[in-house]
Amino acid sequence: MQTEAYIHSIETMGMVDGPGIRYVIFLQGCPLRCAFCHNPDTWHMNKGQSKSLNWLVEDIKNYLPYFRSSRGGVTVSGGEPLLQAEFLELLFAELKKLNIHRVIDTSGFANVEKIKKLISMTDLVMLSIKHPDPEKHREISGQPPDRPLAFARYLTKINIPIWIRYVLIPGVSDSHHDLALLAAMIKNMPNVQRLELLPYNTMGKSKWEQLGISSPLLDIPSPLPQEVEASRKTMAGLLPGLKIV
Ligand code: SF4
Repeated sequence: MQTEAYIHSIETMGMVDGPGIRYVIFLQGCPLRCAFCHNPDTWHMNKGQSKSLNWLVEDIKNYLPYFRSSRGGVTVSGGEPLLQAEFLELLFAELKKLNIHRVIDTSGFANVEKIKKLISMTDLVMLSIKHPDPEKHREISGQPPDRPLAFARYLTKINIPIWIRYVLIPGVSDSHHDLALLAAMIKNMPNVQRLELLPYNTMGKSKWEQLGISSPLLDIPSPLPQEVEASRKTMAGLLPGLKIV
């Protein structure tokens, strides 16, 4: 059993990775290579620092008053946190004993059969859908969508709440056709509680340059506010009643 985690960094007062104030653990390692990745420095597992289960649980306990006053908790993010599912099983079991809310922020790229125990201890999944079109998913992330789709189907089957995250990349993922495909996917998932539409930005550009890697998207500008608003309106029309932010 993996009793140490490979970690990129920790944010102790996170406000955007789940409800309330959150202790966010960014885990090292990712099997995807998203062309819009902000954290390419998380890709390789062996570049992180290692932390023991005991160290993490004791550190998390310092923030209990913040979780309780804000209905927050702990989020595991990455990289792709499901690469270290064995460790997360141990961590979530400890957090469950402490009645701490548990979120996984993931691309869903995992073998569902191997993470069922972890999912059973998860309160909410923040699922990044890279692209609803299978070919474009492969182009953008370097991987086919089969595993994320199987993961999403399993979450729906056992009714684990999901918040979807989707990056609006001008000319790549924001056409009416793309949004209609995304909406059709979400319509089949009654456990989706919220959709976050995230405007593409080039914040990761300097990291890509430092690491000497290139991305076909680096020269694409962020969408204009009115374009983002138009996409929100389209999704609101296609998915009436769903919270869209
Ligand atoms: S899944 Fe996340 S960490 Fe991995 S490459 Fe994509 S954006 Fe980056």
